[in-house]
Amino acid sequence: MIAKNFEQVHRHIVGTAERVGRNPGDVRLVAVTKEHDTDTIAEGLRAGAKVLGENKIQDAQGKIETLGHDGMEWHFIGHLQKNKVKFIFDLFDLIHSVDSAALAEAIHEKAQARGTCMPILLQVNVSGEASKFGMDPDDAPEVIHRLASFGGVKIKGLMTIPPFDADPEKSRPYYVRLRELRDSCAKLAFPNVSLDELSMGMSNDYEVAIEEGATLVRVGTALFGPRPSTK
Ligand SMILES: *Cc1c(COP(=O)(O)O)cnc(C)c1O
Repeated sequence: MIAKNFEQVHRHIVGTAERVGRNPGDVRLVAVTKEHDTDTIAEGLRAGAKVLGENKIQDAQGKIETLGHDGMEWHFIGHLQKNKVKFIFDLFDLIHSVDSAALAEAIHEKAQARGTCMPILLQVNVSGEASKFGMDPDDAPEVIHRLASFGGVKIKGLMTIPPFDADPEKSRPYYVRLRELRDSCAKLAFPNVSLDELSMGMSNDYEVAIEEGATLVRVGTALFGPRPSTK
């Protein structure tokens, strides 16, 4: 079942990218494994998963201990509390969900103390929904400017989560907005900042996201089925 799902999602990613004239290799699938056990994740790895997405530090720790890092990347996609920052360095290759300058600064400080640098994406709340984490789009250029000089973080791009809607077309304006924000920030050409990555798109709307420029799609349910908490 899982192998078939991967095949289908992969086919959709390639088909969508080609249809809009993008290189399918520029779109990476983040297989969202939150709530799933290591047996299920291992099945995903056998089906070709290369990037795994987790949203809770504590859950991820055990899974990463068991499955390791060989031949795969682990990405953090959940809300990160400052007191958990110290754990991310041994666990994750990319943090998608840096939702404030203060969090980025906390990561920078811990990274510097360890003599390392953490790749991050800035989470932007393009919908303005009060329930969503993420910085105000208007603040993004200023935040990027500040963080550009921080040696402990490397900004790779932007991420967003739109309001859920069963109709994927409802997500499109938010994905357009994130891409346009990225383009306008990229024009400012801050040193040490590359804004190549756009993390957007989930099971219900990843094709729309790819049409609008996503380079990282975060897909859980379409690969692994419903999560235990939603069954
Ligand atoms: C759970 C989650 C996903 C995956 O959602 P699906 O609808 O199951 O594909 C993507 N992004 C984030 C931030 C998530 O928390």
